[in-house]
Amino acid sequence: MSYTQILQTVQSYHAQLVAVSKTKPVSDIQQLYNQGQRVFGENKVQEMCEKKALLPDDIKWHLIGHLQTNKVKFIAPFVSMIHSVDSIKLMQEIEKEAAKHQRIIPILLQIYIANEDTKFGLDNTSLIELLDYYISDVTAFSHIQIAGVMGMASFTENQEQIRQEFRSLSDKFNFIKQSYFPLQQTFKEISMGMSSDYEIALAAGSTMVRIGSLLFGARHA
Ligand SMILES: *Cc1c(COP(=O)(O)O)cnc(C)c1O
Repeated sequence: MSYTQILQTVQSYHAQLVAVSKTKPVSDIQQLYNQGQRVFGENKVQEMCEKKALLPDDIKWHLIGHLQTNKVKFIAPFVSMIHSVDSIKLMQEIEKEAAKHQRIIPILLQIYIANEDTKFGLDNTSLIELLDYYISDVTAFSHIQIAGVMGMASFTENQEQIRQEFRSLSDKFNFIKQSYFPLQQTFKEISMGMSSDYEIALAAGSTMVRIGSLLFGARHA
């Protein structure tokens, strides 16, 4: 499918397209950039930093993969959004590094929705623990902005299961919004949907889809 077709579908739901360029060369990114795409997602810190140095400055880089605290410092100067915050420790580290650069970094809370062991993310208990911690001392977190949630569905052919998992993330978003951010217009993102399931995700309320192989072709690495 073409970039334009995918973009049209995503925009018809008033959602944003994050073009996931992991393992792909900068020439592929430049090509999509030339067609107007500005938001790109990478899952590894080093790869993102290397590509950023070689590409136009107005690209918005989203970190979508698991992030180790000791690597936050490398992306803090420029990253536009971090989708994969799954611990208080990581949230504190992002706050610390963002403060050094006098930035406010939007973050998403990665929530565990899949029915398998292999996906990262906060379970219910650790989610509430993180939110209570944050809300009890918001002024200590003035350099991050909790902008929403992110989740990944199970790796399965079962469309109904995927739909249910995405709905459960939408439900969690609504619960968090009501309970913790009722007045914050900035808490608004539900990052869900990849190449194989983005249409299900959009129908379930996604505001941001992360699409790689459908745009750039299959990954071999
Ligand atoms: C790789 C990746 C994607 C995109 O996957 P595709 O199936 O290639 O669209 C989305 N989200 C995360 C977190 C990823 O690591």
